[in-house]
Amino acid sequence: MATISLTAPLEGWVSPLDEVVDAVFAERMLGDGLAIDPTGDVLVAPCDARVLVVQPSGHAITLETPEGAQLLIHLGIDTVALDGRGFEPLVAAGATVTRGQPLIRFDLDLVVREAQAAITPVIVTNGERFAIAGRAKAGAVAIGAPLLTLVASEVATVEDASDGPAARRAVTVALSHGIHARPAAKLAAAAKTFTADVTLTKGERSASARSPVGLLSLIVAHRDELTIEARGVDAEAAVAAIGDLLATDLDEGAPAPVPTPAKPRTVPEGAIAGVTASPGLAIGAIARWQVRDLDVPPLGAGIAAEEACFESARAALADDLAARSAGATGPARAIFRAHADMLADPALIDAAQSSIAGGASAAQAWRDAIRPQAEALRAGGDPRLAERADDMRDLERQLIARLMGMEQEVATLPVGAILLADDLLPSQLMALDLDRVAGLAIERGGPTSHVAILAASRGLPALVALGAPVRDLAEGARVVLDASEGLLHVAPSPELVADAEARLAAVAQRRAAARARAAEECRTADGTRIEVVTNCGSAEDARVAAANGAEGCGLLRTELLFLDRATAPDVAEQTAAYQAVADALAGKPVIVRLLDIGGDKPAPYLPIGPEENPALGLRGIRVGLAHPDILDDQLRAILAVRPAGQCRIMVPMVVGLDELRQVRAALDRVGGGDGVELGIMVETPAAAVTASQLAREADFLSIGTNDLTQYALAMDRGNAAVAGALDGLHPAVLRLIEQTVTGGARHARWTGVCGGLASDPLAVPILVGLGVTELSVAPAAVADIKALVRDLDMIRARDHARAALDCAGAAEVRQLAREFAR
Ligand code: PEP
Ligand code: MG
Repeated sequence: MATISLTAPLEGWVSPLDEVVDAVFAERMLGDGLAIDPTGDVLVAPCDARVLVVQPSGHAITLETPEGAQLLIHLGIDTVALDGRGFEPLVAAGATVTRGQPLIRFDLDLVVREAQAAITPVIVTNGERFAIAGRAKAGAVAIGAPLLTLVASEVATVEDASDGPAARRAVTVALSHGIHARPAAKLAAAAKTFTADVTLTKGERSASARSPVGLLSLIVAHRDELTIEARGVDAEAAVAAIGDLLATDLDEGAPAPVPTPAKPRTVPEGAIAGVTASPGLAIGAIARWQVRDLDVPPLGAGIAAEEACFESARAALADDLAARSAGATGPARAIFRAHADMLADPALIDAAQSSIAGGASAAQAWRDAIRPQAEALRAGGDPRLAERADDMRDLERQLIARLMGMEQEVATLPVGAILLADDLLPSQLMALDLDRVAGLAIERGGPTSHVAILAASRGLPALVALGAPVRDLAEGARVVLDASEGLLHVAPSPELVADAEARLAAVAQRRAAARARAAEECRTADGTRIEVVTNCGSAEDARVAAANGAEGCGLLRTELLFLDRATAPDVAEQTAAYQAVADALAGKPVIVRLLDIGGDKPAPYLPIGPEENPALGLRGIRVGLAHPDILDDQLRAILAVRPAGQCRIMVPMVVGLDELRQVRAALDRVGGGDGVELGIMVETPAAAVTASQLAREADFLSIGTNDLTQYALAMDRGNAAVAGALDGLHPAVLRLIEQTVTGGARHARWTGVCGGLASDPLAVPILVGLGVTELSVAPAAVADIKALVRDLDMIRARDHARAALDCAGAAEVRQLAREFAR
């Protein structure tokens, strides 16, 4: 199976052909493809190709790829009418062009002014021979970004019956990024559904298809040739299934958006250029951090003893990662889970066990097992895979540290440090006292590494890939880290420092002004009341939030009390915990969410068997309804909090009225049916689209945008591979929010948001514009979000929200939101 990758020939905004105002294109009469609304003025070749035709008026070009796929790129709609005005072809028919080579220069202003539209279809005209297997998502695109993947032909299955039931197939990999973490996990999961052993071979290297790490170590790139072999009763079916997965795009489409690396063209004197991993500005003193190898004894003290040590350290680390993942949110949770998956990888475990059997100590054996895999990833030349090698090194350290009885290294840092590291591992960043760190300057690394994702999620300015020049920087040297501009000023002039200080002071001033008014009631500039409350998991969170002006608690995550222990907390323990939160908020309302456990938040005492797809399994209120004793105890505990009525009750993961009615029946059962407000979380598309029904019986609605986004976009919120695309500002999610608000309003119910979107300054104007009247935000964000709401004008916010609903994708909404913020 041959595949062809086409890259964007224009800078602009990708949209489906349906959005082209010309039926010839919109109805795919010329073929399937995508459209780009250009923002630049040059059309380049989307692949190596031969030019078949350049329209005499210069507005369209036809290309043929070496494989025979024929492409038509049509600059604008009705541009033939311009008679060549505004188009300057740079190549002629018959020319051989290479990907990225300029083909046509055009005058965008003229096209916008005079043609029907500038939107440019990119079409595959011989679709009968080349199907589109992957396409870029709608949104901003830069020249050279993946646009379309074409699949040319099938490869037949070859059976090898020489030694029992066996099957074999050659396949050309269609995955746009080859086998990276996400496809490896998907392939391994598929392989595990067969009893046959499936092996993938590339050149001289082979790996079991059941091992994600083994698959990664093959360094399989897009269009590589692989052989799949299987042996076992269902060998043929296994080969067919794995082959089909490899020969399709596995839903990869365009890569997840990567933070735009800012690399200035000219580097000012006294500065070092890096790549932006997390934007922002910081002034501080260099504090060096070095990742050193931990010393391990090469030889073991007996095979049985080392095996036992290995197993118990591995089990302990697995428990620790599971607990940390359950207690974390956002990317941190995904990263803990990714590490837990790697730790359970059978290929790594086998390799370590054979090393132990050969006499190595458990620590040495783990290093022997994991290092070659990490090195192979690094050597493969794919920067994304190389970034995953850091996770392997991290896991190497974490298990070795456990085997050697070492604590996680914690640096003692001066306040305001610019942490300078040749490399930094995700677990090390998570262990740092980030209150002391002003920014990160990393010699190696990449913008999509987990360290970069973590830094961005915490708003910590970070530059990566600064290179060798940073090695000469002295400890304590004062620098200006302008991560937004991709520059580390190592010899800043007094003027530059003064300018950076002024910019930082302006931010601090805004913060201080927000703090000063934190305790005031929150209204928009034109008087609409918006309650800003907080999400908390403990009384400490509630105290921080109260000091920041929280008007109550919009989401008490009670599951934290239930995790990481052998038995469920009893009524008295629960009451004490909820009472402490209520006391910290001094009479303000507290919305207690009923136990939201299961899925990725496991509890050992709940008999929930392993589930293939826990996010779609027994979780949220389904668990409470399946275990009425636990539900009843929790209801009793909430009802015992004084003063009575301070606590409201919220039901998680609702999909229908029946669940709400069952909780009401449980409330009646424990004698608390009257007087307590009972609301629901809207976290499933089912709840959002039936909000008007649910609102008939629910006292309030609170949208959990974290789950709502994962279920609406079909992207696992714990999967680091999709973390970059999992954005609650996707118009699909916004439309579900709109439906919820409208449904609630029909029965005079208020709608709040308690998911992460409520703490996102870019999202808040849209949420308020959609009619959300309660925002439950992170404790530290309360004062800032209140200040932001005070600046909003409802008419503008509503217009802005409407425009957001019409955007083509989350990236477009974010762009719009940035413009609105400005
Ligand atoms: C949510 O899903 O948005 C939410 C607030 O719940 P949690 O993140 O605890 O699942
Ligand atoms: Mg949730």
